[in-house]
Amino acid sequence: MTFPSAEELFEGVRDRDRVMLARGITLVESAHADHRELAKDLLDACLPLSGKASRIGITGAPGVGKSTFIEAFASRLISSENRRVAVLAYDPASERTGGSILGDKTRMTRLANHPKAFVRPAPGKRQAGGIGGGTRQSVILCEAAGYDTIFVETVGSGQAETKVSDMVDFLMLLTLPGSGDELQGVKRGVMEEADMVILTKEDTHSPKIMRLEARRMKTALRLFPPKESDWTPPVHTCSAQEGSGLDIIRKELGDYEQLIRTSGYLEARRRRQIGSWLRETLDARLLDAVRADTRVNRLLEEYEEQAARHETGVAAAVDLLLKAFLEGGEGDDG
Ligand code: GDP
Repeated sequence: MTFPSAEELFEGVRDRDRVMLARGITLVESAHADHRELAKDLLDACLPLSGKASRIGITGAPGVGKSTFIEAFASRLISSENRRVAVLAYDPASERTGGSILGDKTRMTRLANHPKAFVRPAPGKRQAGGIGGGTRQSVILCEAAGYDTIFVETVGSGQAETKVSDMVDFLMLLTLPGSGDELQGVKRGVMEEADMVILTKEDTHSPKIMRLEARRMKTALRLFPPKESDWTPPVHTCSAQEGSGLDIIRKELGDYEQLIRTSGYLEARRRRQIGSWLRETLDARLLDAVRADTRVNRLLEEYEEQAARHETGVAAAVDLLLKAFLEGGEGDDG
């Protein structure tokens, strides 16, 4: 794949050309070592224009209504507040397996066609610059393109991958009333990260059930330690289809943003996020370099056989491989 120069891409992004923004995002998502320099130049150019948007994470199991919610909520921000909204999908599963939970279906077509919106599906394979690196860079590109509200949509699996809370200022967890799994392992981790819990599709349940569910969820949230932001995550109910509940959600999001801007928490959170981004990128680059090292690869097969024959231990073999890597410098990752 060939790209325009970093300068052309930057000018396109800055001038709010959605095609150029999309190409820029393809570039920063690329795991190709050949694209790294160009991506870096583009990102460096965009950085001074970034950082001012609200970054909002939306997480929840497939089918809870994330796309429907984002479409309704974002349309509201655009029409009543004149916002410009970008939606990025972050799919941790694709980074591990190459498969995709989020990316396959056509999403938010109505929003995607709005001139003040930009909707980007999840990248299909592991992103460059470390797990989640592509999404973080895409956020910066979108901000440079003048989007003032960025949604990062993801399925919350709560596994070892980068948490979406590590890329956003505010995390909304969407869940269905009666799914009954709030306290099970996987969801727990995501719940603890959430700054707001939203019970979706309230039009399909009676108000009484919704109230009960919301109370149950509030009780569950109280089991977590207080947040460093001093914010107590509220629980809301909504129907994205009918538009109910969106006003209070919008208001609380605004309250939260004001709180974290004045308290300094926003700045601290973003600073910490850059720290983890840097560490993750370093880890990923090291891993790429080790895996691309021809000497290591040659020895790996040898040691694999030796270990299988119990002639050498695994730990000893790894020591030797790392030694070969550090001394070799032969395999160049570009
Ligand atoms: P996602 O996989 O989490 O993005 O979920 P979707 O937004 O694609 O929604 C899954 C299904 O639930 C779709 O058929 C939607 O039409 C439906 N849905 C989403 N929100 C609502 C809602 O507020 N009320 C009702 N009744 N259905 C909804």
